[in-house]
Amino acid sequence: MSNPPSVFELIRRFDLDPKKSLGQNFLVDESHLARIAAAADLTPEDTVLEIGPGLGVLTRHLAAQASRVVAVELDDRLIPILTELFVDQPNVSFVHADILKVDPASLLADDGRQATDEPAIAPRNLQLAPPYKVVANLPYYITSAVLRHLLESAQPPTVAVVMVQREVAQRIVAGPGDMSLLAVGVQFYADAKIVQKVPAGAFHPRPKVDSAVLRLDVRPQPAVTDVEPDWYFAVVRAGFGQKRKQLRNSVAAGLGMAKVAVEAGLLSAGIDPRRRAETLSLAEWGALAKVLKA
Ligand code: SAM
Repeated sequence: MSNPPSVFELIRRFDLDPKKSLGQNFLVDESHLARIAAAADLTPEDTVLEIGPGLGVLTRHLAAQASRVVAVELDDRLIPILTELFVDQPNVSFVHADILKVDPASLLADDGRQATDEPAIAPRNLQLAPPYKVVANLPYYITSAVLRHLLESAQPPTVAVVMVQREVAQRIVAGPGDMSLLAVGVQFYADAKIVQKVPAGAFHPRPKVDSAVLRLDVRPQPAVTDVEPDWYFAVVRAGFGQKRKQLRNSVAAGLGMAKVAVEAGLLSAGIDPRRRAETLSLAEWGALAKVLKA
């Protein structure tokens, strides 16, 4: 079998000018493509949602290992190209859409049920589709928004393997001492680890920063279950709202509560009121949210 066409050949053949505004940095290094697909542990039973197939270089690996691949691409120039490239592969389909504007699982629903008007924060466990995995070399300008959209959707993926900026990957897997709103937001829903570092030279056009592949194993239940997620994140957001401030000040300001009440809440949750938001674990945020709700 002949080698598949490279990104450079495809760009030439289709006279394509990569769009910076859509985060089009195509992965040209075959060994990295193979390792991303391997990190998802795909089996012939798996359904995969790919975000941003670009010129289909990762799609090829996914299609060879999974039962079905649905790939969502925003750039309308790429849809006819992808359709032509995958004409002989009936297990791959392309959807022209903005991933942030569609419900992820409804793209995979066999009976055509749509939940495109569902808000990102929809009731959990709404079974729209078979269990699925997300594999993507994400457009970096919407990384946090995509992760939130996936993790808070009605039926999240079981696993997401995503390429992101290395610095963002490091922030997401951080522990207490270096936590951020993004780290709490992802770790609340998933166990996150970096599986591979990818240098800028593995892409064309070459981005300014290095990248990393993250694997998110979505938890069957959020990491903290005895507090409403909305209230939990209201408290977390308040804490990070004024990151440099001590928690007794930032949480009181963010929630519009009296400082003495927040201080008492922190003490009763076993948290020194002088600590800062980045030092708290997910469980400590849970304890604080519970006490403040009461
Ligand atoms: N998968 C290809 C690869 O690895 O070479 C391309 C990855 S490139 C970093 C990101 C892709 O996401 C581009 O094809 C871009 O057009 C697409 N994209 C950008 N914004 C999008 C959005 N909101 N929804 C869906 N696709 C998007």
